[in-house]
Amino acid sequence: MTSIYMYHAVGDTKQIGGADPHYAVTAKQFEKQIEAIAESIPLAHQVDNDSKISTHCITFDDGHISNYLVAFPILKKHGLAAEFYVNSSTVGTGCYMSWQQLEEMHKAGMSIQSHGHTHSYFSDMTDEQIESELQTSKQMIEQRLGNRVTVFAPPGGRIDKRVVKAAKHIGYECIATSRPGLVSCSALFEVPRFAIIKTTTTARVKAWKKSMSQETLKEVIRFNVFRIAKLVLGNHRYEKMRARLLGDDGTQMS
Ligand SMILES: [Zn+2]
Repeated sequence: MTSIYMYHAVGDTKQIGGADPHYAVTAKQFEKQIEAIAESIPLAHQVDNDSKISTHCITFDDGHISNYLVAFPILKKHGLAAEFYVNSSTVGTGCYMSWQQLEEMHKAGMSIQSHGHTHSYFSDMTDEQIESELQTSKQMIEQRLGNRVTVFAPPGGRIDKRVVKAAKHIGYECIATSRPGLVSCSALFEVPRFAIIKTTTTARVKAWKKSMSQETLKEVIRFNVFRIAKLVLGNHRYEKMRARLLGDDGTQMS
């Protein structure tokens, strides 16, 4: 049984500019958490450069510049590899990592995979759009970095049966979802991940390594409450409600 953790931006307020602060952690928080996560990663997995997600317990969505500036040096210091899901259309723009930075990370043993071409929700797309986003992001990353892109992390965790079918057809070997839970079998196509947010404590990260811990069960229940709200309200109305509750601009970057 393995737990996979989903990060976004890492750093202080200045370093995480342009990212959703709800999903950001400080460098200190990140370092403490990966020390706790690393305790459970077999050494062979830490140095394995295979793109299969089962070997990467630490993952990042969105390709925010702080992943390169803050998280990458900390990972290197601890001899840990992680997997980064980037949007091929935003690489090198605004607050996102450049192809050159991604290349440097890839050469250092980090895995760079797909978060789609744009950051649109796949469940809101037509079949053609789904196929195009999956295809374009895979091709662009493979051409620029020369690696194999086999993992897709859907923006906002939004997927449906059409997305799973298209991802399989295009050659993805797994989808890194936003559904919490432990990975019980390496042959799973839809792999669960625990989302780390700004209030996530190291104690909670440790508790998520146990399938039946109170924290794990609480996270599964919390996720399902939000999942039902998304289904009932639809993506647009859900985002508006979330923005009101969190008091932010509602940017959904997961
Ligand atoms: Zn995202």
